[in-house]
Amino acid sequence: MEVKLTQEDIPEILRYLAYKDQYLDEELKKQVLDCMEKVNKAAEPKEIYKVFKMEKGNIPKELYFLTGEEIKKHLNGCNEIIIMAATLGVKVEKVMMREQIKNMSNALIMDSCASVLIEAVCDTFESKIRKNISKESKFLTTRFSPGYGDLPIEIQKEFCNALNATKTIGLTVSESGIMIPRKSVTAVLGISDYPVKKNKRTCNECNLKGSCRFRKNGVGCSE
Ligand code: SF4
Repeated sequence: MEVKLTQEDIPEILRYLAYKDQYLDEELKKQVLDCMEKVNKAAEPKEIYKVFKMEKGNIPKELYFLTGEEIKKHLNGCNEIIIMAATLGVKVEKVMMREQIKNMSNALIMDSCASVLIEAVCDTFESKIRKNISKESKFLTTRFSPGYGDLPIEIQKEFCNALNATKTIGLTVSESGIMIPRKSVTAVLGISDYPVKKNKRTCNECNLKGSCRFRKNGVGCSE
């Protein structure tokens, strides 16, 4: 399923730009739509995931880099772990860099568009996994990424190596731990045989309500 930004994503793009409750005039709307179009055209989203068994609820030794208390709490009650990565690819990166020289305001809007698009790619990918898991009468936790809580951001290299992400989706990690392409996400999810209610959100209070990729795919974002 090809994931693209649509008009419904504009509020979220403006939120990333810290544009709060201000009037969106026609000129700015056109600028955002043009930037959206450039990002949509350049983005080449790719995703990869792997599933690992958890013996007696323990994190398997292949995923030794998943350290800290928060990830253990997140996976409590699960018997399988999914690790995933998604990226928008290098082309969108290059287009944004070129725009920085030509028009800085466009470049900032495009950066927000790309941030919203990579989240939309992850949500769409997760919603597909969520649908398949629910067919097996199992449950999926929400995504938990390196850098959340006490799960170190520095594990990106080992994380991507475990997914063979350079080869499979062209995602590398620099010596300083930065993911390249920059608009990439890694995350961990747990699978369990019974609902593990964590971070349950309600649609009414969610700012993604209008553009939600989970709802579009007929699932919620938590079990
Ligand atoms: S399913 Fe509801 S709560 Fe979850 S992201 Fe979508 S709108 Fe938000």
